[in-house]
Parts: sequence; C-alpha cells; structure tokens
Amino acid sequence: MDQAQPASLTPTDPRVTAFLARRHQLFIGGAWREPAAVALLDVHDPATGEVIARVPCANAQDVDAAVKAAAEAFTNGAWTGLPPAERERILLRFADAVEANAEELAQLETLNQGKSINIARHVDIGGAPAYMRYIAGLTTKLTGETLDVSIGAIPGAKFTAYTRREPLGVVAAIAPWNFPMMIGLWKIMPALAAGCTVVLKPSEVTPLTSLRLAELAAEAGLPAGVLNLITGDGATGRALVDHPLVSKVTFTGSTETGKAIALATAGRLVRTSLELGGKNPAIFLKDVPIDQAVGGALLGGFFNNGQVCAASSRLYVARETYGAFVEALVAAVDGLSIGPGMDASAQVNPVVSAAHRDKVIGSIETARRDGARIVAGGDLPNRPGYYVRPTVIVDAGPDLAISRQEVFGPVVTVTAFDDEAEALRLANDTSMGLTASLWTNDLKKVLDYVPRLQAGTVWVNSHNVLDPNMPFGGFKESGIGRDFGLASLEGYTELKSVCMAH
Ligand code: NDP
Repeated sequence: MDQAQPASLTPTDPRVTAFLARRHQLFIGGAWREPAAVALLDVHDPATGEVIARVPCANAQDVDAAVKAAAEAFTNGAWTGLPPAERERILLRFADAVEANAEELAQLETLNQGKSINIARHVDIGGAPAYMRYIAGLTTKLTGETLDVSIGAIPGAKFTAYTRREPLGVVAAIAPWNFPMMIGLWKIMPALAAGCTVVLKPSEVTPLTSLRLAELAAEAGLPAGVLNLITGDGATGRALVDHPLVSKVTFTGSTETGKAIALATAGRLVRTSLELGGKNPAIFLKDVPIDQAVGGALLGGFFNNGQVCAASSRLYVARETYGAFVEALVAAVDGLSIGPGMDASAQVNPVVSAAHRDKVIGSIETARRDGARIVAGGDLPNRPGYYVRPTVIVDAGPDLAISRQEVFGPVVTVTAFDDEAEALRLANDTSMGLTASLWTNDLKKVLDYVPRLQAGTVWVNSHNVLDPNMPFGGFKESGIGRDFGLASLEGYTELKSVCMAH
C-alpha cells in the first residue's frame, strides 16, 4: 500500500507554476513591497519535502509599515467612510475573484499544505465564495437598537437613545496552517465587513494562498491599505500583536500561543479573539450501527489527516459494541490509501511539515511508552514526504498525554464506557471544549446529553459540519469569541450608546 503509485496526479495548472516561480514580496498599502531586510523562509511541498517557493520573513520594520498602512486606510475613510452597500459590493467582487481563480488556489493550497485536492477544491477554496458572500451580505445588516431611557432620566426631560456599532480599527489577523486560506478569510471577511482594516499574517509554513488572496482583493477594488499581507515567523506575529496601533487581534492556532497572545494584549486591553485547540470527544451509544459509527469516526478523526481543531480525537464507545467497533475501525483505517494530496484518489495525505510529522509520531511513541496499545498505524510509511500512517490507539487511560494533549494528526484513541454518566465524565474530562459529537438515534438521550457536553459545538450523528450561519468557537481553553454569524462582525466593533435630550 505504501508504495502504490497514484493512478493519476492532478496536472499542475500553469498559473500555479508561474505563481510559485515568482519573487514573493509583502503586500502593503495596496502594492507589493520589498521587505526591509533580506531574510527568506523556505516553503515546502509536504508530499515530497522539496522547497517550492521562498517568501520574505517580515521584521518589525515591515510590521510597522503594514500596520501604519492599515491605520492610514482606517482613518482616511477610504473604507470606513464608504456606504455599507458599497463595501458589500466590493466584498462580493472579492468572492467572485476567489471563485474565478478557484482551481489555481486549490492546487496552491494542496501543494503547500499537503491536503487532498478534493478537500482543497470542495472545502477550503470551494466553500470560500459562499462564506464570503454570506459575510459580505452582513455588511448592510450591522445595526444598533433604539432604547427607552426612563430609569436614569431627569424628571420632566425627554430622551431618545440608540446604539451604534462602530469598527474597532486595525485588526491583526494571525492564521494557522491547517486551512490556511479558509481560516484567513474567517478573520479578514468579518473584519472588513465591519469596516475595519486588516494586517494578515499567515503561518510561516503555509503562506502561499494568502499572498494570492491579497492580490485578488486589490483586483476586486479593495482600496489601498485596507488589506495588508505580511509573511513571517512567530517573531513577526509577536511584533504584530505588540504594535500600538493594533486595536484587535484575531488568532487561530495552538492554545499555548493563544495564551501568550492573550498575555501580550492584556497590557493594553486590546480586544482579542482566540480560536484554539481541541481534544474533542465523539460518543457512540450502543444503538448506532457499527458501519455508521465507523464512518463517523473516519470523518471526525481523519478528515484533513486529523489536522482539524474540531477533530474527534477521543472516541468513546458503549461497552456492548466496543469490540466490534474497534475491529471495524482498524480494518477501515488499514485500508485507506496513502498518497500525495494532488492524487485525488489518495485518502491519507502528508501532514503539513517535517516538524509536525515528528511531533505527531512523538505523541504516538509517548502513548506506547505510557502503556497504551497501538492497534493500527503508529509508524511512518516508507516514502519521501511528511506522511504518518493513520493510527488507532486503545487502552489509553484518561490521564495519559495522548488522552489530554492535542495531537493534530491522524491519530484517535478509542475507549469503552459502561453507562451514560461515565461517557459524559470522560468526554468532559479535558481542559478544552471546542466540539463534541453524539451518535445515537434515541432522541431522549440526545436531549439529555446536549446541555451536559462542555463544547462550543455539539453535533448529533455528524462531525465537522460548519456553516457561516452557525457560531463556532470554544468553551474553556479552546478559546474566546465566535466565528460566523452576525456575532462574528460584532467582535470587530465597539458598541456606542447615544443619548439625546430633547
Ligand atoms: P501556533 O499556534 O504556534 O501558530 C499559529 C500562528 O501563530 C502562526 O501564524 C504562527 O506563526 C503564529 N505565532 C506563533 N507564535 C506567535 C506569537 N507569540 N505571537 C503571535 N503569533 C504567533 O501553531 P503551530 O503552527 O506551531 O502548531 C502547533 C500546534 O498548534 C499544532 O500541533 C496544533 O496542536 C495546534 N494548532 C491548532 C490549530 C487550530 O486550528 N486551532 C491550527 C494549527 C495548529 P508561525 O507559523 O510563523 O510560527
């Protein structure tokens, strides 16, 4: 299986080849700019390990230029001063531009991130225009309220009061590497729709689609300085978060970095939203047919090679069906074909980087040393690139690192439970609380479980289903704030009360 050659690789689009060969710069103030100092980051193809591009590593001077360009665009009214309907029109054109260049963007995402071209085409890039149009439509829906002022009123005087939502200013958007363009858009779209201006910093390992995105936004008519793009590493991110002209930080990534950012922004009380890690449970009650349960476990645990903050990495299965479930899951996982993301038939693709592959395999080794049993996978396929064989682990006690720490790879643990109280206790026994899923056809049990699961999203008989209309974010250490819906725009605004005496 390891050496199986793909039936056919997706031929690389000539526009992708041309883009990769470019000399990449920083997009600041509506134009490509040379970085202040020559420092480059290598960008790898995870399927081969080869360097496919080099991008600038922005330093503090570059960050300053980008933030100042965003601040100038905020204060000169070029964006904020436009009627909301005009901002909406430009954002809709931005969505059209992404749609028109979808195949190029999808291939770039796959070559840079390693993911399946199917996921890039249908989720990352294919899902983007609909999401963008949904958020663009909210530009004209951001409203305040009229208020009755009577309790605090001066006797005899009359007051009319109302609230306004006003854009916060310059937004620092820091995106991760698992869905680079998609999560970048989850940040920049509501920020722009609310009237803010943005500096986006993608992950240093997956900067390519964001570079293209900045260019497409400008082509769509976004005024200069409204969206700026800087590539760089963790130090670049820190300089951006610390910049005094930044009014809001929106971050998706690890809980550890999220906490560091929260500490950095606390000093100036900069508004901060954090979408962080998950160690998400899926609970399979005994009435679920094994086929359905295994299908759900594959979707929840192995989609995008498990590099999903919402992934179900802890599977809890009713004792009555546990043995049959593990047997069927192992057979299904062992049967998955491994290959590069550009091979549309490959079901398991490389993880994002050599460092991440080593981290994932290190977590598996720790689990083995801690006494857990690896019943599928657990090793590296014998091929170049950053592959990890999909892995199923049993006999992992609740205190083991593998049961508590996010692995963010194609690795799940499976644990039996005897009754509902135990299932809930195990599911909630985590410092995180991003998502959970419950698999049963028993409506009463659904209604019992849902309020007791500590997670920002609970799916019933599904996992990893996201929609722009459905708020998404974490309980506990999985974050602060919500993506999607009108609430996501409100996170980029201040609420002002206006009270008029007459
Ligand atoms: P990080 O959380 O370290 O990085 C995410 C983003 O933050 C990147 O753009 C990164 O830049 C930037 N960054 C790093 N340090 C700082 C800082 N101090 N201030 C501001 N920005 C910073 O994730 P990693 O890429 O290191 O992945 C580590 C783990 O995080 C994974 O194994 C996984 O468990 C989790 N993760 C969770 C994600 C989610 O969706 N919730 C997504 C990705 C990872 P740069 O890449 O240049 O260092």
